[in-house]
Amino acid sequence: MSKDVDAPDQGERPGSDLEETNEKKIADLETRVAYLERISKVSQILNSTLELSPLLEIITQVGSELTKTEACSILLYEEESGELRFMPATFAKGEGIVVPIENSIAGLVFKKVKPVLIRDAKADPRWNRQVDQVSDFDTRSILGVPLKIKNQVIGVMELVNKIGENGFTQQDIQIATTLAAQAAVAIENARLVKDTQQAYEELAELDRLKTEFVNIASHELRTPLAVILGYASFLRDRVSKEESEQLEIVLLSAMKLRNLIDDMMNLRHVKNNDLQLQLTIFSMLELVKEVLLEFQTLIIAKSLRVKVQLHEGDDDLVNIEADRQKIYLIVANLISNAIKFTSEGGFILVSLGRRGGYIYLQIADTGIGISKEKHEKIFEDFYQVERTLTRRFQGIGLGLPITKGMVEVHKGKITVESVEGRGSQFTVMLPVSQELV
Ligand code: ADP
Repeated sequence: MSKDVDAPDQGERPGSDLEETNEKKIADLETRVAYLERISKVSQILNSTLELSPLLEIITQVGSELTKTEACSILLYEEESGELRFMPATFAKGEGIVVPIENSIAGLVFKKVKPVLIRDAKADPRWNRQVDQVSDFDTRSILGVPLKIKNQVIGVMELVNKIGENGFTQQDIQIATTLAAQAAVAIENARLVKDTQQAYEELAELDRLKTEFVNIASHELRTPLAVILGYASFLRDRVSKEESEQLEIVLLSAMKLRNLIDDMMNLRHVKNNDLQLQLTIFSMLELVKEVLLEFQTLIIAKSLRVKVQLHEGDDDLVNIEADRQKIYLIVANLISNAIKFTSEGGFILVSLGRRGGYIYLQIADTGIGISKEKHEKIFEDFYQVERTLTRRFQGIGLGLPITKGMVEVHKGKITVESVEGRGSQFTVMLPVSQELV
């Protein structure tokens, strides 16, 4: 059995310093500087390569080149199996072979977390001849160095068969250790990038499945719901007063469900970018009044004070050319939220005006407000500030993403200003005419 040799401490150099001439020392230093320069360049390349396969290829090539060895291979630790797996190496056929931590040379390096030098591999019982057999390679000597990031060992780099008579030197150990340190960081970065990409792909697939489910569900629910609504309103006028009250509850619940389905369908159109604009010219002021009328019962029930303020003082100035149905949805969503998130006796101010080529609509309330870090998030699908299980308010978090989609399809902009506990103000800027933008 050949004895494995731990690398001597850095700085200690083979041979006696006294015997070396100054010239030899200088030549030696020059070679080391050249190596370090090469490693520094390699480090830049490694840091800019984020794909694992090309990265490993560069590392193994540079490893062989700098240590003047016939081959270089990288083995990465696999947590699931607790083994080391050969990654692509300069001798291609070894890829994929797995070696155990116990009773293997790579395993020894991994466990010791130190460079290990095996001068005669064949005489070492820990040497795994399977690798040579599979890859058609003749291993003689091995220098193994751990791939380490801080205190974690992620694998092993093996330099195989030193070219020439003299075998591995202290300098080889130093170079391999430096390269391994750079390589470990680059490999870990590449793996993190790959994991993140994979997670993104999985999320995208989940999102696609969710959208598909929402599409099918909303489509399938629409028809039976229309039947329920139709029959319930037909029966309401033909039954006793008590029964009619019960039917009213059925109708209200079915209408809520229909609004929800409409929201899901609208969101689908927003996401698919296939919203079509049916342009007409209408008064924004009239539209706001219409929406407020729709919500009057709720406003009264919560004893809210609502004021509509026209900045320009001229109704004609708030005429707009837009898709009325979509603008109605925008205003209705914002007013409905203002009512929902403002407690009894609160105040809602709707301001309208014209600024240049834009109509602005501002809906301010004295409600619960939204903390600053949530201002962007509330426009995301299904986002709600309150946690679902402890929520005091109804809704599914689709109103604002739909509203934003409807505003943007008109080439407008929606913003929010809000102070938690004080109130919120949503501002919508819409072009007066679609032709002008
Ligand atoms: P929903 O109202 O169905 O929950 P939205 O997309 O309309 O969904 O709103 C998302 C979230 O933004 C709401 O759940 C709420 O937390 C917050 N929000 C929206 N408007 C207001 C408002 N006027 N005041 C306070 N919070 C609001």
